[in-house]
Amino acid sequence: MIDKKFYHTLSEQLESKCVQLVAVSKTKNAEEIKSMYDEGQRIFGENKVQELLSKKPLLPSDIKWHLIGNLQSNKVKQIISNVELIHSVSSMKLLAEIEKQSKELDISTNILLQVHIATEETKSGFTPDELLSELSSGSFDNLKNTNIHGLMGMASFTHDNNQIKNEFKQLKSLFDKFKSEYSKNQDFKILSMGMSGDYELAIEAGSNMVRIGSLLFGAR
Ligand SMILES: *Cc1c(COP(=O)(O)O)cnc(C)c1O
Repeated sequence: MIDKKFYHTLSEQLESKCVQLVAVSKTKNAEEIKSMYDEGQRIFGENKVQELLSKKPLLPSDIKWHLIGNLQSNKVKQIISNVELIHSVSSMKLLAEIEKQSKELDISTNILLQVHIATEETKSGFTPDELLSELSSGSFDNLKNTNIHGLMGMASFTHDNNQIKNEFKQLKSLFDKFKSEYSKNQDFKILSMGMSGDYELAIEAGSNMVRIGSLLFGAR
C-alpha cells in the first residue's frame, strides 16, 4: 500500500526546493507502481535490469525509468534504449560499453557517474580522486553517444548523522569542482543523493535528486 498523503506532502516539499523525486519501485508490482503514477508520479527507479524490463511493458509509456543499481556490461545493450537515466555508471569500462552500444543503436544515453563516498567496501563507484584524474586527462571529452548529466552517491549505512552529512558534503564539493571543470557540458547538473533514511541530510548538503523507496511504498 502506498501512503498517498505522505506522497503529496513529500512531493510538494521537494518541488518547493527544486529537488526531483525518483520513486524507487524495486520489488513492488505493476499495480502498486500504477497507483503512485495515478497520484502524479512519473519518475520510477529500479535497481535490476530484468525487473525493470519486465515491469515496463505493463505500465504507461510516459513513465521515465531510471536504473539506479549495479549494471553489468553484458546487460548494457538491453537497457540503454529503455531508460531515461542510468545513475550507476561506476567504472570506465562500463562507460565505454555504454558509449559503444549507444553508437551502435544510434541513440544518446543519459548517465550519472557513481561515486564511492561510503565506508562500506561493498558499495561501488569511482573514488573522488579517480574521477578528477579521468576528467583532467580528457577521458570524458570524446563521448558522442553518452551524456554525463551529473553524479550519484550513497552515504554509509550508519546512524551517525555527522558522518552521513560529511559524506554528502564531500560529494557536493566534488560535484561543484567537476561541474566547473567540465563546463563544455551544460547538461551536467544532477546531483543524485539521498534515500528514505537520509534524504533530508542530502538536500541540506545540496542534492537535487533523491531516490526514495520504502518511505513511499512501505518496507520491502
Ligand atoms: C533501494 C535503493 C534506494 C531506495 O532505498 P530506500 O531506503 O528504500 O529509500 C535508493 N538508491 C539505491 C541505489 C537503491 O538501491
